[in-house]
Amino acid sequence: MVWDLVIGTHNGKKGAELADLLAPYRFRIVTLAEVEQAIEVVEDGESFAENAEKKAVQQARHLNRWVMADDSGIEVDALQCAPGIYSARYAGPNASDEDNNARLLEELGELPLHQRTARYICHVTVSDPAGNVRAESHATCGGRIRFAPSGQNGFGYDPLFEVIEYHRTFGDLGPTVKRALSHRSRALRAIIPQLAKLKSSGTWKPDQATPP
Ligand code: IMP
Repeated sequence: MVWDLVIGTHNGKKGAELADLLAPYRFRIVTLAEVEQAIEVVEDGESFAENAEKKAVQQARHLNRWVMADDSGIEVDALQCAPGIYSARYAGPNASDEDNNARLLEELGELPLHQRTARYICHVTVSDPAGNVRAESHATCGGRIRFAPSGQNGFGYDPLFEVIEYHRTFGDLGPTVKRALSHRSRALRAIIPQLAKLKSSGTWKPDQATPP
């Protein structure tokens, strides 16, 4: 048996991380890139939780399918927790990862490393096809912002985000370490038992159309 689940993000690299983390759990994962009828949900909430709920609930109702959405970003202590929920568009509405990283470096200037502490945040929400929130979790991953990008792995702020214990950025460290430590993997690990309960109680029915 498999359970149909749409990953509600248009960010291909984020979707790939979520799909990778969910791979062992008997879901048939579909990303929005593969769903023609998917809508663009406006992220105008005031918190990660509000935005994750909007993305999951509105997409689920529209598609009449189970949807998992995450809202994530980075908070930098010296910048009063900016960019926070605006992480994807820190340098402007159509900013690239490189643009956002450049703005972050500019804002921090020459501030010494010990004052460049930051954390990634991830809120994950799962909605049933009727738009009811059925599971959610929230997690963080602490680190600090380097003076220059390093490494080719990951996406977004990963080349600047140093995992303090490793003295390396997520850009240097690659997918295995990110899978173990990241805000997204921690939030996913916390939500899996909730999803297992929804399956075992019959609230979330397996997809009968799919061969075993
Ligand atoms: P969202 O798609 O609105 O949730 O925006 C997430 C944004 O936060 C991304 O575009 C990145 O800028 C940043 N972000 C979230 N998670 C990560 C991560 O794992 N690595 C690097 N940047 C991230």
